[in-house]
Parts: sequence; structure tokens; C-alpha cells
Amino acid sequence: MRTADIIVIGGGLSGSAIALGLVRKGARNVVLFDEQLASQRLSRGNFGLTWFMCKGAGNPVYAQWSRLACRQWPEFAEGLEADTGYNVELDWTGGAVHAVGEDEFKAHQASIEAITKSCEEAGIDYPVTMLNRREFQDLIPDIALGEAVTGAMYTKEQGHVNPLKLLGALRWGFQKKGGTFYGGQTVSAVIPKSRGKVVVKTGMGDFETEKVVIASGHGTKRLLKGLGETLNIYPQRGQVMVTQRVPRVLKVPVLSVRQTQDGTFMIGLSTEDTAMDSKVTAEAMKNQAANAIRLFPELARLNWVRAWGAIRVMTPDGAPIYSRVRNHDNIFAVALHSAVSLAPLAAGTVAPWILGTDEHPLMSKFNNGRFNV
Ligand SMILES: Cc1cc2nc3c(=O)[nH]c(=O)nc-3n(C[C@H](O)[C@H](O)[C@H](O)COP(=O)(O)OP(=O)(O)OC[C@H]3O[C@@H](n4cnc5c(N)ncnc54)[C@H](O)[C@@H]3O)c2cc1C
Repeated sequence: MRTADIIVIGGGLSGSAIALGLVRKGARNVVLFDEQLASQRLSRGNFGLTWFMCKGAGNPVYAQWSRLACRQWPEFAEGLEADTGYNVELDWTGGAVHAVGEDEFKAHQASIEAITKSCEEAGIDYPVTMLNRREFQDLIPDIALGEAVTGAMYTKEQGHVNPLKLLGALRWGFQKKGGTFYGGQTVSAVIPKSRGKVVVKTGMGDFETEKVVIASGHGTKRLLKGLGETLNIYPQRGQVMVTQRVPRVLKVPVLSVRQTQDGTFMIGLSTEDTAMDSKVTAEAMKNQAANAIRLFPELARLNWVRAWGAIRVMTPDGAPIYSRVRNHDNIFAVALHSAVSLAPLAAGTVAPWILGTDEHPLMSKFNNGRFNV
């Protein structure tokens, strides 16, 4: 039987970032498996925001975690480029959530006050301010705002990346540091054995290992079931539309509209309870396009060239699950939304916790058991 010191199951953004973090911290003989089905496009089909704004309303722990991740993003991107040659196209230009009408403007103000208060109680800053319409327009002078836009909440301290390049950089960085990546390989079961050993069953045969990280997106649920644990996640579909390329006029991403470095506009923000059905719908396309045009009327002139749906991994409180599997201290489960934003922490903070070399004080707050009350 083949052996590995640590096996990571799932080569999406979470598993690849953790695997990279493990080898960066000196772990040897780390193997990463990814099933790589075409339908599993979550890590490739997301919006690419590196974002903390609005995250953790009523949940200071998640607010703090998101903020910590964002603070690390610029250095993380630099490190990835130095290690791999991949430019993940990080634009650290800040980010905005626009408001349409006075009621939404007031609701944004109230949200800033509420999250600032809950962050203060946890001893962290929440550097988000409200811009009036003129201030928002001055921030993005090359594209005209729609008439109904009243302003935006804004922070300087977040941005956006190219998720495809990010995924490539994480996987390549892992392999360059000695990790082994097997794409197109499904893990069918994780079987604890005596003396702390674990057998991982794959299409290439069985592997014996000492530690397993199950970071398989929605697939984590099935693998954990085999270990007698219920994972508290649910699916939520999001749809994304992409326009033709045009000269760059929008350098600050808005939650529902961003322009990539190569000039395409990405338009998003649908949230639907649809089980595992990732198809696109005319209704969501219509709503998303209408919202985008209300924000930036000149988008109406562009051709929309592509669209896709992807299924978010959501938890009941929105925060990640990083958890030891009950009765198996050497098997870890990872499941989360916002794996782009949280990638620096996956590599720099979650990986050392898995290795047992360092445990951040917040780690224990993300246990899967928090939902079993
Ligand atoms: C429309 C949309 C927009 C989004 N925008 C953002 C954003 O702007 N910023 C942000 O931070 N997040 C965003 N997200 C969320 C982000 O995409 C996810 O948090 C992220 O992709 C989750 O990564 P993951 O590695 O945990 O899971 P996944 O991407 O699902 O990866 C899991 C991997 O495990 C593999 N796998 C599954 N089962 C097995 C098995 N049995 N054996 C081997 N391999 C297996 C799969 O092949 C897959 O590659 C968005 C999501 C959606 C839907």
C-alpha cells in the first residue's frame, strides 16, 4: 500500500491553500487528491472578491476572521507570485456596496454601525465608511452612476483577484514545494485504522496516512457521513454573467459588478436555494442585468457573452467550519463560503493548526460541533 504523511482530499481553493500551507511549514510527503468533475466549478466560477465588508454581522468571530484574512491578502499575493510566477491579478483598490434609493442608503449606514459595534466589542477595527453619491462617483470617475444610486458603503482595505489564477498558483506552489497532486481522482472513503493510521480509498488504490484533511466542498458531507459525523452545510446557487471585453473604466469592484484586468465585466449576486442544481436561469440573468444597468447604465450597450451557475457551500451562521472529526483527532473537516477571501488564513493559520505546531485563538470557534445544540 502507498503511504503519505498527510492526505488532503479536495483540490479546490480551500484544500489547495491548506496543502500549500502544509508544505510551506515543512510537511513532507503531502498528497492532494481532486475529483475534478466539470460540474464542480465552485473554485473556478466565483466572483474573485477578497472581501471582509458586511461579513460577520452579529458574528464578531467571523467578522474578525474575515478582516484578518483581508489584511494578509497583499502579502499573500506577493508571496504566491514570488513562489510560482503566477500573478493572481490582485487589485487592492478597495471595494464598495452601492445603495439605490434613500432607504437602502440608511440600511447600509445602520449595517456599518452594527458591525462596527460588534467588532469593537471583539477588539477589532471595521474600516468601512458611507460615501454619498458624489463621493462614490469621484471614486470611479470613468463610469457614470445610474440616477437612482444614492451612494455606497466603501472600504479601502479589500480588493479582487482572478480566481482561476489563484487556484493555479495554489496548486502549483504546493507541487513546487514537493507536494504531490493527483487530479481526476475520487476518494471513495476514509477509514480509520488502529494506532492512528488512516486508509484513504482512491481509484489508484489505497493509501495509508497519519493525517487526513477533508476539504472536498459539498463532497465533504458524504465522506464525513462514512465517519459517523453530520456536516452542517447546505447548497446555495449563485449565477455569474460575463460581458465582452472593453477598455477598463471600473477599478474599484462593487459587490455585484466588477471589471477584470482584461476588461470583461462580471455581474453577479443571485442567491437561490436550489439543492445541487447549477444551471443558469433567464430569471436570474434578467434580474442581475437589470441591477447592473441600474448601477451603471452604460453596461446596457455591452454584449453579454457567458454565464454559469455554481453552488455555494453555506453554513447556518455563515462562518467556516474547520473541525476535528469526532473521535478521530487526526482527521480534519473543512467547509466554507468565501474561500477566496479566506485563502491567506487557510495557508498561514489553518495549516499550522492541522500540523499541531500553532493554534490561533479563534480556531476552536469554527468547530462543526457548534451547530449541535
Ligand atoms: C457565484 C459565486 C460567487 C462567489 N464569489 C466569491 C467571492 O467573490 N469571494 C469569495 O471569497 N468566495 C466566493 N464564492 C465562494 C467560493 O467560490 C467558495 O468558497 C470556494 O470555491 C470553496 O472552495 P472549496 O475548496 O472549499 O470547495 P470546492 O471549490 O467545492 O472544492 C472542493 C474540491 O473537492 C473535490 N472533491 C469533492 N469530492 C471529492 C472526493 N470524494 N475526492 C476527491 N476530490 C473531491 C472537488 O473536485 C473540488 O475541486 C462564490 C461562490 C459562488 C457560487
